[in-house]
Amino acid sequence: MNGDNFTVSEQLVSPAYVRQGSQARRSHELLIRQLLDTGKCPETGWDENTIELFLHELSIMDSNNFLGNCGVGEREGRVASGLVARRHYRLIHGIGRSGDISAVQPKAAGSSLLNKLANSVVLSIIKLAGVRTVANCFVVPMATGMSLTLCFLTLRHKRPKARYIIWPRIDQKSCYKSMITAGFEPVVIENLLEGDELRTDLKTIEAKIQELGAENILCVHSTTSCFAPRVPDRLEELALICAKYDIPHIVNNAYGVQSSKCMHLIQQGARVGRIDAFVQSLDKNFMVPVGGAIIAGFNESFIQEISKMYPGRASASPSLDVLITLLSQGANGYKQLLKERKDMYIYLASELKKLAEIYGERLLDTPHNPISLAMSVKNLDEQRGTSVTQLGSMLFTRQVSGARAVPLGLVQTVNDYTFKGFMTHTNNYTCAYLNAASAIGMKKQDVDLFIKRLDKCLKTLQKEIQTEYATENSSQSSDLVGELSRSLSDVLHNEPTKDNLSA
Ligand SMILES: *Cc1c(COP(=O)(O)O)cnc(C)c1O
Repeated sequence: MNGDNFTVSEQLVSPAYVRQGSQARRSHELLIRQLLDTGKCPETGWDENTIELFLHELSIMDSNNFLGNCGVGEREGRVASGLVARRHYRLIHGIGRSGDISAVQPKAAGSSLLNKLANSVVLSIIKLAGVRTVANCFVVPMATGMSLTLCFLTLRHKRPKARYIIWPRIDQKSCYKSMITAGFEPVVIENLLEGDELRTDLKTIEAKIQELGAENILCVHSTTSCFAPRVPDRLEELALICAKYDIPHIVNNAYGVQSSKCMHLIQQGARVGRIDAFVQSLDKNFMVPVGGAIIAGFNESFIQEISKMYPGRASASPSLDVLITLLSQGANGYKQLLKERKDMYIYLASELKKLAEIYGERLLDTPHNPISLAMSVKNLDEQRGTSVTQLGSMLFTRQVSGARAVPLGLVQTVNDYTFKGFMTHTNNYTCAYLNAASAIGMKKQDVDLFIKRLDKCLKTLQKEIQTEYATENSSQSSDLVGELSRSLSDVLHNEPTKDNLSA
């Protein structure tokens, strides 16, 4: 309702009441005004009413919702299902134009505003989370791997001779594939074992750069967030090497926004050396559905170049989801989630340590990894080779998701490269282990249930191993074996094979 309509309403309802109603509306509008003025995430979260009011205002600005609209083009924001239209708040045009995902769409002022605001609100959160000097960022409706590919493809035009990407090894297929898909040859740099931790081998990286020649290298592709016992790469030193040899530096910060340590590494790297872009997942950091990522950087025009590489228009859904989420949490709500995550990391570490000791195992000492933890499962590995995988599938059937039982000696070929010791980030790690992560949104109850179920699984496996020892040749099968064979077929489908299974 605008001023005119309020005045007319006074003919129907007492003017005093209408005035009160119009003031109430004004308070919602003031919040919207503040957002438009500052472009920042509000300190305090909005209530759902304000958010929906705002989204309706935006969608009314798009041509598909004009009352007199007559569309004769091939893309007119027609949606057959009312359910689908409502799922998107009737924002149907998506974002960007054919040549730039950040460009304004003439047919859709509301969607364009949504896009700009989502990007600037996310930028304010990246600053708040620790990368204070970030210059620019944008939300892309692609997950992390494809977003990294887009960064590499943008660099291709700047470095026509380049064929190689220097990549400190991280055992996640999408990281490797992001480079292959972009048409480059990853140069895998093995990690160094320091205590229990796997860390960046800077000497080998510098030697490789000299061997291959800087102009033949597209970029260094480093990683912050990763499974322990790997820890975030030495970003400061890498950034210095990149500056020294004038090589671009792209950082995979997949779930690093939630960790002040990862964000600090990026900030420091950019301060002392060179970081061109850092990429983070929307779902892993902001608790929204899978499908989006943020590409951010310190040079405004380079980030614009990346956004111009995106061909065609794009889905607005990831931008809409993250904007709704951040408006409803507010900066304070997000900060609170970050704090709870940190507390939960300490709790998970102490509970896992206690449990490990009961079973003669230990929590691996990986203080540089702020999110992921690893507990050795040496006894399972030594006493019976396949027990480690069994532990994984037992946890899976007990509805523990995200725990990752990592046996030694897996071999996995991704495209044309064969990774030895796949999943462990190194050829020969010292022991098999189990990963668990304290990621944003995890509750104490999740930790408690996990520890309880893990305890049960370990107890069962321990018993199993003992009875097997006692009755070497007994062919009696237990409930456990039945359960395992059922779940294993699911779990092992498409998974790496044990290379020395028969050895
Ligand atoms: C999740 C993750 C990826 C892949 O992300 P997608 O969003 O699935 O493309 C890559 N690297 C790391 C370190 C990750 O955690």
